[in-house]
Amino acid sequence: MNFDSLGLIPELLQAVTARQYSTPTAVQVEAIPAVLAGEDVMALAQTGSGKTASFALPLLQRMQEDVDEGSKESSKQRKVKILILVPTRELSGQVGQTIEALAEHLPKKLKVAVIYGGASINPQMMHLRGGADIVISTPGRLLDLLDNNALSLGDVATLVLDEADRLLDLGFADEIKRILEQLPAKRQNLFFSATFSPAVKKLALALLHEPKRIAIADLTENLPDIAQRAIAVDGDKRTRLLVHLIKELQWERVLVFVATKYASDTVSNKLKKAGIKAEAFNGDASQGARQHMLTDFKANRIQALVATDLAARGIDVAGLPAVVNYDLPRSADDYIHRIGRTGRAGASGTAISFILAEHEMHFRLIEKRQDKRVPRETIAGFEPTAIAGEITQEESDARLANDAPTGGIKGKRKSKKDKLRESAVTNK
Ligand code: AMP
Repeated sequence: MNFDSLGLIPELLQAVTARQYSTPTAVQVEAIPAVLAGEDVMALAQTGSGKTASFALPLLQRMQEDVDEGSKESSKQRKVKILILVPTRELSGQVGQTIEALAEHLPKKLKVAVIYGGASINPQMMHLRGGADIVISTPGRLLDLLDNNALSLGDVATLVLDEADRLLDLGFADEIKRILEQLPAKRQNLFFSATFSPAVKKLALALLHEPKRIAIADLTENLPDIAQRAIAVDGDKRTRLLVHLIKELQWERVLVFVATKYASDTVSNKLKKAGIKAEAFNGDASQGARQHMLTDFKANRIQALVATDLAARGIDVAGLPAVVNYDLPRSADDYIHRIGRTGRAGASGTAISFILAEHEMHFRLIEKRQDKRVPRETIAGFEPTAIAGEITQEESDARLANDAPTGGIKGKRKSKKDKLRESAVTNK
């Protein structure tokens, strides 16, 4: 299968070639013809599956046909024909960039507006003067702009919900409902989600009309070539182990996931002390600072980005060799999202999870959900003191306290196992 056979116009094929997409991904093969034919689509597709181009290419083509017809009226206000709702500002920027790049060679120029919260509204309002053809937006800010009459959605022909599960996770259900009320009833709906929980399914079914289902039954099947590893380690040895792995495996770049903003700051600081160019990527950094970090990360000026789930959502870094779960994600869905950051679009990647004894059961649930067992490993010099099942509640609490942000129990007496292991390391 190649792009030529999907019915795309030469200008779009040229853009695809320029981006060095040689073969369409699975979701592209199925979605492109369906979207071109005006059908609704419900696709199980995570970041890395090529989902953005799977809706952007055919929508750009359809817009071209529209603009052709209406070119005589080109002096008039542009009407929003395509609305793409995304969960985060990062993703809005990325989708915007992808669309702009794919539209590069089109004869009729389209105006794309990227809208997101957490930044001043005025420039966005200014940009919307004269209208826009395509709007990519997070839901809250879109409502603010609608309230300010900065745009109208009365002519939207296609609605795209990108990362619909995340939109719901982030509590945007009400905002989506309010936005839907402003859209014409007759329209095309494209629904992309990495997971289909009952709530996501319910939203999809309420929205879609006889959709083409692009459902890859097993999420892991659709994951690109990702080697999953699980390393058993004590909580307070994780940073040293991370440094060891970064050096040993010579990752050019690694995305490290932690559970809290605090952890992202402390872990990145410790990595810096160990001579690794690291940055904390969390909601405390301004949008500008985060963009800057991403650019530096992509250009290999930052080696390790230590991120929280929320901030990392939508990070699209081609060729990311490794993802590390320093802290395990809360849900199996988050795990899939996280490890999907590596091994994108054909490239292979490694996803390593640090498994603390007290989190063994949680990781088993994650394994169960993806129907895949990941063998536990230990790394010489970083063997855990207790293996899962052996740990007492008391020990578990002490260990957590030791690794806790507040500094923990510094002077904790060494256990027999600690001493044994230490002497094993020093005697090596
Ligand atoms: P997405 O799933 O839309 O976030 O895309 C993930 C990454 O894959 C992006 O960096 C795209 O530029 C890239 N990509 C999309 N389609 C293809 C393709 N057919 N071949 C190679 N790379 C692609």
